[in-house]
Amino acid sequence: MYVIRDLIVDFNKFLEQHKRIKPYLIRKKTESEGKEQFLQSMKDRDTLDGYVECVLCACCSTSCPEYWWHGHSKKPNDFLGPAALLHAYRWVQDSRDEATQERLSALANFYSVYRCHQINNCTNVCPKRLEPGKAIANLRLLISGFKKKKKADMEGKVPADPNKACPKACANN
Ligand code: SF4
Ligand code: SF4
Repeated sequence: MYVIRDLIVDFNKFLEQHKRIKPYLIRKKTESEGKEQFLQSMKDRDTLDGYVECVLCACCSTSCPEYWWHGHSKKPNDFLGPAALLHAYRWVQDSRDEATQERLSALANFYSVYRCHQINNCTNVCPKRLEPGKAIANLRLLISGFKKKKKADMEGKVPADPNKACPKACANN
């Protein structure tokens, strides 16, 4: 990353790449945004362990040789880097997200995912012991069709207001 001064580096490109993978839940119908919460089984939630704990420290991306070479190329021909791709996988994997195909299609090009050489410097340096290299490998399997997203164990929604979502349980508390 470009040094601004002393140990302060320019995070702008890194954060722009993070924004580009749309790091938020996408539903087809948006009219209930903020009014409803979508259900997820504990088993499906467990599949996000190892991906949701990222603190965006950028250690993985800055340790990645491919990111040194192509991370700062001009958009869209830049390698997104392990941090952004770990988050991309986190949202692809989420049982509540409905934009899986759009997310995978956006990554199915020469630079976004395929510049990774799977040497896993990124995984070695992560202070949270996450595995961005594994996330990228899983994305490739999904993009190539060798792996399919599992169907959600639980679907449905409840009101966002907890008093309405569980009137009996809340009344007892
Ligand atoms: S090193 Fe780990 S915690 Fe830091 S940005 Fe990468 S995946 Fe996230
Ligand atoms: S495995 Fe891929 S993302 Fe991780 S350091 Fe190597 S080239 Fe970079």
